[in-house]
Parts: sequence; C-alpha cells; structure tokens
Amino acid sequence: MTEIIDGNEVGERVKDGLADGIETLSAEGVTPGLATVLMSEDGASETYVSMKQRACEEVGIDSVHVEIDPDAPESELLDRIDELNEDPSIHGILVQMPVPDHVDEKAVLRRVDPAKDVDGFHPENVGRLVAGDARFKPCTPHGVQKLLASADVDPEGQDVVIVGRSDIVGKPLANLLVQKAPGGNATVTVCHSRTDDLGEKTRNADVVVAAVGVPELVDGSMLSEGTVVIDVGVNRVDADTEKGYELVGDVEFESAKEKASAITPVPGGVGPMTIAMLLYNTVKAASLQEDVPVDL
Ligand code: NDP
Repeated sequence: MTEIIDGNEVGERVKDGLADGIETLSAEGVTPGLATVLMSEDGASETYVSMKQRACEEVGIDSVHVEIDPDAPESELLDRIDELNEDPSIHGILVQMPVPDHVDEKAVLRRVDPAKDVDGFHPENVGRLVAGDARFKPCTPHGVQKLLASADVDPEGQDVVIVGRSDIVGKPLANLLVQKAPGGNATVTVCHSRTDDLGEKTRNADVVVAAVGVPELVDGSMLSEGTVVIDVGVNRVDADTEKGYELVGDVEFESAKEKASAITPVPGGVGPMTIAMLLYNTVKAASLQEDVPVDL
C-alpha cells in the first residue's frame, strides 16, 4: 500500500505545536507580527499572500499587508521594507516573489533585516544554513523535511535526488538534507535542466523530490519500487473546470503512486507545509527579537 502523505494534516500539527510558544510570548506582552509585501497583480501571488494572512489569523499572529503598485519605482519597495525593518511590532517580513522586472530581486532580499527574514533568503541566512547554523530554514525545504519525518523517512544514509536547483527550493533543500544533523545526513544529488539522463538518476534514488515547475515531468517509469516521492510543483494547467484550470504537480501522480512507497499529492502535500513553516519562522523570529525563549 502506498502511503499518501497528507500535508494538510502535518501542517495542522505544526500549527498546533506553535500554540504554546505564542502563549508564552503573549504572557510577556508580545504578539508575533508578520508583514506580507506584494508588488504584483498576479492572481497566484495574491492568492498565496491571502492564504498566508488567513493562516496567521488562525494561530494568533498579527499580520500586516503592504501593497505596492507594480509600476512604482524600486525605491518605493525598498523604503517600505526599511519602515518594516524599523517597526518593533513586525517580527517577520515576507516579500512575495516574483517582483516586477524593473525591480532587482536580489537587492530586495538583501534589504530585509536578516533577523526578520522569515523566508530565509537573505545572504546572511543562506550562509548560516550552508554552515549548519540556520536561523530560519527556508519554508518549503523545511516543510519537505517535516513531511519526510512524518512518514518516518529518516534521510540518513539515503540517496536523495532533488530535481530543480532554485534558490528557494532545490538548493536550500540540498543544504538541509546534507547537514550532519537530525533530518539530514543524506547523500544528495541535485538535478536540473542540463542533467544528462534524469531518469537514470531518479531510478537510483531512495527519495525523489521534484521542484521543477514542469507539469508531471517525473512519472512512474522514472522511479524504482519503494521510492519516497515528494512533489513540490504547483502548475496551473488548462482544464474543463469552473476556473478554467486545475493544479498539477511536477510528478504524474497516478503512475508514480504505483511505484512509490509514499507520495505527496498536489494539492494538499507540500503547499500547506510552506505556510505552516512560515508561521513557525515568524514565532521563532518574535522569540529571538524579544528575547523570550519558546519551545519550538
Ligand atoms: P524555478 O523555475 O526557479 O526552478 C526550476 C528548476 O527546475 C531549475 O533548476 C531548472 O533547471 C529545473 N528544470 C526545469 N526543467 C527541467 C527539466 N526538464 N529537467 C530537469 N530540471 C528541470 O522553480 P521553483 O524552484 O521556484 O519552483 C519549482 C516548482 O515548485 C514550481 O512548480 C513552483 O510553483 C513550485 N513551488 C511550490 C511551492 C509550494 O509551497 N508548494 C513553493 C515554491 C515553489 P535550470 O536551473 O537548469 O534552469
């Protein structure tokens, strides 16, 4: 029987686990605060931001939303980030990507105070992650790590193949799984568009993580019996539905399920974990900034 790893359920458990920490902070007069910043009219980005705000409300994190006209100059976005950096009621800042073409994404990531960088994308936090001293583990990779643990998959000694080398998923996940630490100790191969014979790599893996952005790229023929499959992909494909599209992952679920010992669905796999780990990082940020130790 293939285990379907339920990201909604694991995400709820992560959120429940934050309640004590939020209560401890509250007893000290602190409410964790998250600012979401959106400089885009993209429907998917708007949806992600509103999901993050709703999740904050659910667990008792204050959320502030800043919208910036996509035609405004880069300086307007940087000025708003400066204000949020200075605001003591804001412990975490999340700038929803992508930003418009005329805005330098790397300059934006560098502008966020590393202590408030709950995405974990500031170069200081990237460096700390690589050095095995993470302050904020990036949300999606951290969520993947939690999903593996929830399915009793210990990466230690396992061959993990990650398809995708982005700065937000593939690379930080490789760094997390290769760490000499619980939840790590894996042997990691990172594949990308220039990888020769992807199927040969994935067929030799104990765990395959797909973070590509290509609908159903990984199918059952690319997997061996018993592989654990984590599908990070979220792709809108045209479909005869009310919205005119449906969401599919980077894995062809039905054929992959035939081979996998455990697999995440799309939706309902990695997505809810990304949001749960953002809340986790916001509570951690509040704890560190306010010097109120909490058990996370
Ligand atoms: P990027 O576009 O930044 O990176 C995609 C990676 O996939 C690149 O490294 C690219 O290679 C590689 N790639 C593309 N085509 C192929 C191919 N045919 N064979 C092998 N590798 C290939 O994507 P992201 O990491 O930002 O996102 C990946 C997916 O995950 C998307 O569907 C996105 O929507 C989803 N996502 C989901 C999240 C969630 O919470 N569930 C969070 C973040 C992302 P190269 O570097 O050579 O170009």
